[in-house]
Amino acid sequence: MDDDIPYLLLTPGPLTTSRGVRQSMLRDYCTWDADYNQLVADLRNRLVTLAGGGDRYTAVLMQGSGTFSVEATIGSVIPPGGKLLVISNGAYGRRMEQIARRLSIDHSECWLGETQVADPADVRQALQDDPAITHVAIVHCETSTGMLNPIESIGAVCRQMGKVYIVDAMSSFGGIPMSMESVGADFMISSANKCIQGVPGFGFVIADRDRLSETKGWARSLSLDLYDQWSEMESKGGKWRYTSPTHVVRAFVQAMDELDAEGGVAARHQRYSENHRRLVDGVAALGITALLPAAIQSPIITSFLYPDVDGFAFDDFYQALKQRRFVIYPGKVSDAQTFRIGNIGHVFPEDIDQLVAAIAEVIGELTVASSR
Ligand SMILES: *Cc1c(COP(=O)(O)O)cnc(C)c1O
Repeated sequence: MDDDIPYLLLTPGPLTTSRGVRQSMLRDYCTWDADYNQLVADLRNRLVTLAGGGDRYTAVLMQGSGTFSVEATIGSVIPPGGKLLVISNGAYGRRMEQIARRLSIDHSECWLGETQVADPADVRQALQDDPAITHVAIVHCETSTGMLNPIESIGAVCRQMGKVYIVDAMSSFGGIPMSMESVGADFMISSANKCIQGVPGFGFVIADRDRLSETKGWARSLSLDLYDQWSEMESKGGKWRYTSPTHVVRAFVQAMDELDAEGGVAARHQRYSENHRRLVDGVAALGITALLPAAIQSPIITSFLYPDVDGFAFDDFYQALKQRRFVIYPGKVSDAQTFRIGNIGHVFPEDIDQLVAAIAEVIGELTVASSR
């Protein structure tokens, strides 16, 4: 843990960033000439490369938090008369349905509940049952629980059936190996402050160039018009339509450099997996178990059931850990008492060992207090 930060954020996101990422923001940029815009143009190319590369794909950056990029995509790529199927099993899937509803986009939702992973056979059935569906959207890592949906096999179904496929890979892109090709995605969405470990301020969409090209004029919003934003960046050498989050972009470039230096996505995935393994094994010894079975659990974030300690209160637990320099997340599951701990960010296995030791201390104190 750097000694210049008050605590580790185990809450993606925002998440813990490196000192290098934070320091890279200590200068201003003009946005009218090539020195900044070249940074953006290079960044877009690097994102496409990170998503497997190829001329077929392009990248658009969008101001705002990750949800803005999800809303920009859903609001821009479904034509009038199109219909969206949202497959959801958590709060972020639900949010896509909410976006479609708010924008009056014809849609249906296949709601699975919070602990049921998506099944490609069910998606095929849903598409056969409703031929009006033109687009399918799903979340890869449902950050509300930590569940990983099988986006590759669902992508194969979408390709076979000729549906446009939108993947919210917000919390997994850059941390779990995947490519546009392997997923079969037409649009894949992520943001600066998840696995690439930048600071919050913009999101991005990797898109099939042909699919994106046909969406001109479809957007239901001016500022969240994905096509217009893309077309400006393409034709004006990396220029954003409206004020660009320059410091955030610069920090993101630094974060991309650090991802490369770490050894790329495979190496980062390994670190997150090791963080996850030490966390789950460590707290299991303290009687704290994960909500989901290992087979559908991501290495990104884990939901844990409250321990069986009399009078356990999340707020006390949270404050006691924060005093020990660890910030965790409340749960986001409606039918179980859970809290969440993220493994992503500038967080290393030794940090997780210290976290487990801190949790042991806190549980010990709570147990003594409850037996008094
Ligand atoms: C973080 C996240 C988002 C976006 O959330 P914001 O708070 O808008 O950044 C969307 N989907 C998933 C799966 C996420 O993890």
